[in-house]
Amino acid sequence: MQDITGLTLSELEENLKESGYPLFHAKQIFSWIYKKGVLDFNSMSDLSAELRKYLKAEFFLGNLKLVKTLKSRDETEKFLFELKDKNLIEAVIIPAENRITGCISTQVGCKFACKFCASGLSGFKRNLTVPEIIDEALYLKSHCPGGKLTHLVFMGTGEPLDNYDNVLKAIRIINSGFSFNIGARRITISTSGIIPEIERLAGENLQIELSVSLHAADDRKRSLLMPVNKKYPLRNLIPACKEYTQKTKRQVTFEYVLIKDLNSSLQDAQNLSKILTGLKLSKVNLIPANAVKEAGIEPPKKLEILFFKDCLLKHGINVTLRKPRGQDIEAACGQLRLNYVKK
Ligand code: SAH
Repeated sequence: MQDITGLTLSELEENLKESGYPLFHAKQIFSWIYKKGVLDFNSMSDLSAELRKYLKAEFFLGNLKLVKTLKSRDETEKFLFELKDKNLIEAVIIPAENRITGCISTQVGCKFACKFCASGLSGFKRNLTVPEIIDEALYLKSHCPGGKLTHLVFMGTGEPLDNYDNVLKAIRIINSGFSFNIGARRITISTSGIIPEIERLAGENLQIELSVSLHAADDRKRSLLMPVNKKYPLRNLIPACKEYTQKTKRQVTFEYVLIKDLNSSLQDAQNLSKILTGLKLSKVNLIPANAVKEAGIEPPKKLEILFFKDCLLKHGINVTLRKPRGQDIEAACGQLRLNYVKK
């Protein structure tokens, strides 16, 4: 037995062919699962009873058991799932004016231990499989009004580029017109800056969006906040990002979580402007930190945030200030799961 949502359309076609079924059934099956959200082979009414029996004997369908849902006043909704091996993961739906974005996890826990992030606080367990990742997206889609999940971000728990092969295969499945049909430009990978994998990604010929979590503008401070910086320091990361933009002609977005007393001074803003000067295809996304009391993390005062943004603007940096979402539902990466893992 294997998980059917771990297969690309051509892999499913291959499987059916080998068992003597016509290829076109693969598209029908994809349509049931991904367009109609039907997760039960018995209900796939245009398939023969014989084929349904084959599918039941050959494939699993569905990896996630919903454990808890939290809905914010701002409509952000967070889901905690239990996997078959009892591990817990979380995913989020973030509705906005003209889009509904799904945020999904790529690993159980995280090994990168960024100081401001709840995901690393309980350590790393394992990579998510392709079908587990796809099932998160499927679940979120089924919970969007009209099934209209328009964007997908790999910004939940874990480091997507540390689970490279599974994430890339999941993206190719999600991107297919026969499944979710979410355009590559509406799919974002967010990384803490794993340089060799950023270089690998540049060669994939995929039009996806790349976000790089920066959070500090000098190596000393970044190494304190993000231990990964000791292995892949800013002095190498920024040139690698520049190379990525030149090779792919695609913009890199730098995520910068503003944290009180840690990285939000005017000096920090000036340092950030300096290291990004000359990186034309880039922008900065400023995010006031979600408070994580276990890690002593708080956002700076409103005025400090505005000064920071203003400083970047004055230096000609393309910058946006993101509105924090879901603050009343423990929306920062890994927070919901953390509360459960601790119990
Ligand atoms: N490992 C990847 C993806 C997961 S983190 C990465 O590092 O990018 C996804 C985003 O959530 C990152 O930009 C991260 O910095 C942000 N994040 C983590 N903790 C946060 C907090 N307390 N407040 C606001 N954003 C946070």
